[in-house]
Amino acid sequence: MTTSAPLSLINVTLEYPDGGGTTTALDRVNLTAQAGQLVSLVGPSGSGKSSLLATAATLVRPTRGQVIIDGTDTAGLKGKELTALRRQKVGIIFQQPNLLPSLTAVEQLVISDHLRGGNAKAAPVKAAELLDVVGLAAAAGKLPHQLSGGQRQRVNIARALMGSPKVLLVDEPTAALDHERSESVVRLLRQVTTEFGVATVMVTHDTEFVPLTDVVATMRDGRLTAPVVAAPGLQLTPDGAQ
Ligand code: ADP
Repeated sequence: MTTSAPLSLINVTLEYPDGGGTTTALDRVNLTAQAGQLVSLVGPSGSGKSSLLATAATLVRPTRGQVIIDGTDTAGLKGKELTALRRQKVGIIFQQPNLLPSLTAVEQLVISDHLRGGNAKAAPVKAAELLDVVGLAAAAGKLPHQLSGGQRQRVNIARALMGSPKVLLVDEPTAALDHERSESVVRLLRQVTTEFGVATVMVTHDTEFVPLTDVVATMRDGRLTAPVVAAPGLQLTPDGAQ
């Protein structure tokens, strides 16, 4: 099967060994994210959201089914090829920014690019541009402890964009933030998804921000409901059920 979307999961099942049997974390999941599309992924704890993100990030291989990143079926790739594809095409934003305490904001971006094997000459300029995009131009020289939680999360987002990814996978970006900062972080993800034409999947428990996204997909017991348009006024209960 061919697909032009940056990210496609086709009939993905993920089973973990569990004593003598197995736990099915993902059960025949189908999900596509188009360029410039922000998909929110909601659902109760234990429903499989993290498993879906880890599988889409190619950090975990599915038991069955296909994960296709920018036209490449990842099942056919060996370990090193998979790592290279992930570095080139996938940006991952974890809940906690995990910034290095002794590096300034701009250095966090430059170092991550260096580790990815990026162009050393171009990196400082690109890093400055991205910090400007996320509203942190004036804070480029600050250390993590001099930044607010929201600002650290913005550095995290800018860092994930340094590799010009096709796919952005975001795990509960607002978990540690107050309401105002949470909203501005989701708005920023909305903005960069459009601006950079990246396909973004964001796991969130903040269902009130779901209308800022394009579509919402709900996980339940490893199954994904058909994504629906996340229009303003869409009612979701706090655990993500419709
Ligand atoms: P969520 O992110 O929605 O809380 P998870 O993807 O973490 O859900 O978990 C889905 C299911 O898979 C749960 O039943 C969980 O216990 C199980 N699971 C997750 N990770 C592992 C693992 N590494 N080994 C065994 N079972 C796991």
